[in-house]
Amino acid sequence: MSHYEVGHWINGAVSQGSGSTKQDIFNPATGAVQGQLLLGSVADLDAAVASAAQAVKSWSQTPPLARARVLFKFLTLLQERREQLAEAIVREHGKTLPDALGEVARGIEVVEFATGMPQLLKGEYTEQIARGMDAWSMRQPLGVVAGITPFNFPAMVPMWMYPIAIGCGNAFILKPSERDPSSSLLMAQWLKEAGLPDGIFSVIQGDKDIVDAILAHPGIAAVSFVGSTPVAEHIYKVGSSFGKRVQALGGAKNHMVVMPDADLDGAVDALMGAAYGSAGERCMAISVAVAVGDVGDKLVAALAPKVKALKIGEGHQPGAEMGPLITRASQQRVERLIGEGIEAGAKAVVDGRGLRVPGHEDGFFVGGTILDGVSADMSCYTEEIFGPVLCVVRVPDLAAAIALIEANEYANGVAIFTRDGHVAREFVHHIQVGMVGVNVPLPVPMAFNSFGGWKRSLFGDHHAYGPEAVRFYTKHKAVMQRWPDSTPKGPQFAFPQNT
Ligand code: NAD
Repeated sequence: MSHYEVGHWINGAVSQGSGSTKQDIFNPATGAVQGQLLLGSVADLDAAVASAAQAVKSWSQTPPLARARVLFKFLTLLQERREQLAEAIVREHGKTLPDALGEVARGIEVVEFATGMPQLLKGEYTEQIARGMDAWSMRQPLGVVAGITPFNFPAMVPMWMYPIAIGCGNAFILKPSERDPSSSLLMAQWLKEAGLPDGIFSVIQGDKDIVDAILAHPGIAAVSFVGSTPVAEHIYKVGSSFGKRVQALGGAKNHMVVMPDADLDGAVDALMGAAYGSAGERCMAISVAVAVGDVGDKLVAALAPKVKALKIGEGHQPGAEMGPLITRASQQRVERLIGEGIEAGAKAVVDGRGLRVPGHEDGFFVGGTILDGVSADMSCYTEEIFGPVLCVVRVPDLAAAIALIEANEYANGVAIFTRDGHVAREFVHHIQVGMVGVNVPLPVPMAFNSFGGWKRSLFGDHHAYGPEAVRFYTKHKAVMQRWPDSTPKGPQFAFPQNT
């Protein structure tokens, strides 16, 4: 593909914007610059907010069923064109084509959920809540809302947000990751084709500067964020200080506990996909295997040949299981953390540093890595690596495994592999983590259940997509209504009671 330029989507059309700064877009598999991103200015954001504010006046009054019909049409277009969207992801993110198609499929499920909006927006009604009085609750849209998204799911994570925000009657402004921005414009174009009014979905490209402008903008009522924990915390604090509703999902360090009675083959296969799929660049990736009792040696022995045999290459390469990392800086950071782990005493059972993929020697690749004998004070354990590195921590028993997990600052996902139902139940009941898998390595909730971690993996009260997103993107209004008879009764000064 020839060199290209990616701009914004404002008021239903592609815009070059008025910003003067450009940023390179890399092909992570070759290391080459393939395009340029036009970074938006505050004036571009103002233009997007103005068109959104105008358009939402009518969109918020459009019946939910009519809004859902636009999403139905969009759903059809997405299903027909899923390969095109996946191609854009592979080109800029580097993940394999089957993985990109999986990302698109999980995003489509949120659109399917959002087409049920007439049902989801129904309030509650109580007749005769007091004598002659009826009460009901309803949910109304917030107005103009924004989403700021990470590089690792350039289509799916925006789709966690905008189908529900729009379905609820809001206008949505997306600030995608600057690393892989193209899929945002494809989705914008297809939403327009589906009949979405201009201004209801906008895209402003940019980095930290435009994010800070979004947080401070008086015309934006709410911000959804997904990304790393330091930025999530910043978004939550600053956005809230401007009176916005904020949900900010952060980073992770997900553990998988392998009990001595676990189906070892099943656990090994699960770890392979969960630790090395998408080169470990998933917020739900398993990055720590917690080997309980005597399972550690068997587990590592079974994993090592599979990790050495991983098929690593450009995302279209047939049979490729893992692609490159997103940037050169990311590649160097992951290699540094592997090195620090080894220096601190971890054993590199498989060391993926220095991998050169034939034909793609300048790509941002790191090979699959296993660090055994990792302890909780090593930087490879305390930092989110976000690469194809599995740390193995050995503990004597389940209590020690739980203590390790609970001492961690993150609490996004966790898994336990065991054949003992009682152990699994106790684990599920007690563990202080937002998403839990039992013999399931990546417990990513489906579109109908909301997604979110605990502790420093999520700032704010609402999880992403599912019913929690309907609550996030709407305001709750309670109504009490009485139609008095014409006989005057005089004022009542005591606090109203239900009599
Ligand atoms: P990131 O935090 O660097 O960037 C996320 C977004 O914030 C991007 O749009 C970026 O432009 C913007 N941004 C970056 N630095 C900023 C700053 N200083 N101030 C304001 N905005 C800034 O994250 P990333 O590298 O794109 O994505 C990887 C991270 O996202 C990992 O930590 C991963 O765990 C996390 N993630 C979490 C979830 C989740 O659901 N919890 C899902 C996917 C990714």
